[in-house]
Amino acid sequence: MIDLSPWLDAVPAAVIERLSTARRVLAVGHENPDADTLGATLAICRLVERGGATATAVFADPIPPIYDFLTDAARARLDPDPDIDYDLLVVSDCGSLDRIGAVRGRHPELFERLPRVVIDHHASNEAVGEADWIEPGSAATCEMVTLLAVRLGAPLTEGDGALAAALMAGIVMDTATFAHPNATPRTLAVSGALVEAGAPLSDISRRLYRSKPDAQLKLFGRVLDRLETGAGGRIIHATILDADLVATGAIAAHSEGIIDLLAQSEEAEIAIVFKESGDGTRISVRTKPGGVDATVLTGRFGGGGHARAAGATIVLPVDEARRAVLSEAERMAAAVVR
Ligand code: 5GP
Ligand code: MN
Repeated sequence: MIDLSPWLDAVPAAVIERLSTARRVLAVGHENPDADTLGATLAICRLVERGGATATAVFADPIPPIYDFLTDAARARLDPDPDIDYDLLVVSDCGSLDRIGAVRGRHPELFERLPRVVIDHHASNEAVGEADWIEPGSAATCEMVTLLAVRLGAPLTEGDGALAAALMAGIVMDTATFAHPNATPRTLAVSGALVEAGAPLSDISRRLYRSKPDAQLKLFGRVLDRLETGAGGRIIHATILDADLVATGAIAAHSEGIIDLLAQSEEAEIAIVFKESGDGTRISVRTKPGGVDATVLTGRFGGGGHARAAGATIVLPVDEARRAVLSEAERMAAAVVR
């Protein structure tokens, strides 16, 4: 049996207190949900329901079909249930409350009024509430929620493996299956406990990282064919237009992963993907260890994330956003001394 007791003190008492006394929980993740926000939010629902409370899982955007293998994903909603009088808001994997997305704007009074628990691992998170649990040293929010589950006395085998699979998916996503430097001994111990509880690690890793519909592969090919470099090779970037999705039959969620390929550039300090998104532009940024802090670059445009991986939404058409971001990125890349 893997023993997680050396790490359980990390869970703040205020988080335990609020989660174990709430009766009607609104659990939210970030817009354009990924495995970490999804796994953490679904796990929170299971944990509070175990204690007899009700829970609603809400994300501002639909869950991409790649996560259909997580059985609990089917319970995700785009809005809170109007018939429930919630008494606690739990926000998972959001570096700032803005990351909750449009659903927050549709229910401003509810999101403002509810007592809150924030569980997150983004370095750029500035939350300082009494029950805000921010650990930039955690590889994934799901790593934290696994400790929370154990601390609450829940067996990790809960739900016939549904709990362990959801939590494992978040860790696999945010560490790229333990390949990123954010994977620590604690990450591995937590993951060991999840595998011991039945999480299908290899299957999850294949689904999230090594399996793609043909339309997505075509999209990658098309976009990578146009990749550009700047600042003498210190910047590598590519742009995904709506027209690329149309031409390949891909959906917006299929653009996930292109940034990981650009980040494999041997030379570039900064990899950037620009993605047309309505009237605005989404950027994804990855940087080399010891170089540019990605939260500083994205922070100039209202975004954030982690030092090596961050993003932002910019309210400018893609050509203008690209010009503005590249000029800032060139300045930062030039300042890196190796
Ligand atoms: P990705 O490039 O994969 O979308 O995001 C990389 C990291 O940055 C993720 O950890 C994500 O949560 C964070 N991130 C992405 N977009 C934003 C944003 O607009 N604001 C903030 N605060 N964080 C973001
Ligand atoms: Mn995360």
